[in-house]
Amino acid sequence: MATTKKPVKRYCQCGALLPADNPRVILCEACRKRKLEEKYAANKSPYVQDAARRAKPKPKSAPAMTIAEVVRAADAMGLSYGQFVARGLDKVWRG
Ligand SMILES: [Zn+2]
Repeated sequence: MATTKKPVKRYCQCGALLPADNPRVILCEACRKRKLEEKYAANKSPYVQDAARRAKPKPKSAPAMTIAEVVRAADAMGLSYGQFVARGLDKVWRG
């Protein structure tokens, strides 16, 4: 579907004219850099670092079974791997 839309002039939040050729650009160069620095500064703040350090490590969603085990178990039940997983049996196998 080809759209022959006339490019609309878009402006950055600071009022700078943005290039019309790339609709993904929503900030001018200066604002983009400023935002990036703000982001870095936020992550550098001691509070954020402290919170990150104190935060419990996220439990990894490690599979209860390896694929080989699933295949073996599924085969033993006469199911395909897909059927086995679709029934959620790979999650309950080990409790
Ligand atoms: Zn700007």
